[in-house]
Amino acid sequence: MTEHSEHTRKNKILAIDDDGLVRRTLELLLKEAGYEPTMAAGGQEALGLLARQHFDLVITDIRMPEIDGLQVIQAVHDYCGQMKKPLIPVIVLTAYKDEPVRQAAVRMGVKEFLLKPFKMDEFLKVLERTLRDAANGRLH
Ligand SMILES: [Mg+2]
Repeated sequence: MTEHSEHTRKNKILAIDDDGLVRRTLELLLKEAGYEPTMAAGGQEALGLLARQHFDLVITDIRMPEIDGLQVIQAVHDYCGQMKKPLIPVIVLTAYKDEPVRQAAVRMGVKEFLLKPFKMDEFLKVLERTLRDAANGRLH
């Protein structure tokens, strides 16, 4: 519609975690920070949502049954590539310091890797930075 509505649009965030408590916490936090969160309990659910809705950012857990976080990241890339869409930035949020997993995520272009439990202000800073970088990248 208008330029104004574009600028005030809430960023849509898809957050994936198999832990219900983490999902509820993230959802509240993201809403309070002015984002529009959609929660998924696993990779399969997330991939279904990705195919139907636009998201500005994905936050994913790593250790999940069936489809793990690395597979989610790969699927996001595949989806964006197939749709010829700009790559949706992904933030990893995990409870485990797993260096091989971190390196694999970095190789797939993930810039932010947060450990649970996270500090709220740090988490929000990372979100803002990632969304800003993605928006700037799209202008070039
Ligand atoms: Mg998990």
